Amino acid sequence: MISVIVPIYNEEKNILPIFLRLVDSLKITLEKFEIIFINDGSRDNSIFELKSLASRHEFVKFINFSRNFGHQIAVSAGLDMCKGDFAVIIDADGQDPPELIPVMYNKLKEGYEIVYARRNKRKGESVFKKITAKLFYRILSKLTSVDIPIDTGDFRIIKKKVVEHIKKMPEKQKFLRGQMAWLGFSQTYIEYDRNERLSGKTGYTLKKMLRLALDGITSFSNFPLRLATISGFLCAFAGFILILYTLYSRFILKDYEKGWSSLMITIIFLGGIQLIGIGIIGEYISRIYDNIRNRPLYIIDETNINKTEE
Ligand code: UDP
Ligand code: MG
Repeated sequence: MISVIVPIYNEEKNILPIFLRLVDSLKITLEKFEIIFINDGSRDNSIFELKSLASRHEFVKFINFSRNFGHQIAVSAGLDMCKGDFAVIIDADGQDPPELIPVMYNKLKEGYEIVYARRNKRKGESVFKKITAKLFYRILSKLTSVDIPIDTGDFRIIKKKVVEHIKKMPEKQKFLRGQMAWLGFSQTYIEYDRNERLSGKTGYTLKKMLRLALDGITSFSNFPLRLATISGFLCAFAGFILILYTLYSRFILKDYEKGWSSLMITIIFLGGIQLIGIGIIGEYISRIYDNIRNRPLYIIDETNINKTEE
């Protein structure tokens, strides 16, 4: 069986078209399937659309979050609840074409654990989004030793084995595409051109994008932490030279009243560097704090999935 995981945030107009395309594409694979929609605190009528689909088709499952927890957590909930031998992660807005699922499925059958879809072109997205996304994937791959694929989102098909391992990863900052790369296994990809959204607008605000980027970087690289140390050493060294110079001008040149500006510059510069360092440490500490708090990752309000039924 294939489980399809579709996170939903304000997608009322997209649910029906994506559902129809999913069913058509899934039929081609000849596998049994379930489609799990996770309503991530939508403010529109998405949940009514989902419930009406679920009442008509027993293979449609829905999970209704009590509020907006974010895309990565919605997908995680889908992975936690899915029962298939394969899981497909796909966006609800048509940007990831369901028609690729049979292609990815066939590729998986050649003997891979993960087949992800790599974006060649991105249509209908702002220049800003394209540039920041391109930059992000490249910076991340420079900073980390994990082989995280470039220009690749969460659109992919994975085997149950991968799902089970992802479920065992306890971190609260989910960066699934990175976690799956970290797991290893045999992975391959297909390429595709990313379409524009069917309707509605992106649920990924700048804030959510920054969060994801920071989670990705801090989860898979300690470079920002080391950066604080490196710049600390550099500043200490520069400070040492300055002290020598100050002493020299005080005792040898006897030119010491003029030192005010250099003093101020030093204080401001060092203060700035220290603040940056503290900020970066704070980023990590806040994440450690999140993890030791051990709150549940999400709260389900209502679902038609029966966990014990098999
Ligand atoms: N989404 C979600 N929670 C959020 C934001 C987005 O579940 O807080 C879903 C959204 O409904 C879509 C997918 O995640 O199915 C990708 O989001 P979106 O299309 O808004 O992001 P973009 O494609 O612009 O990066
Ligand atoms: Mg989208």
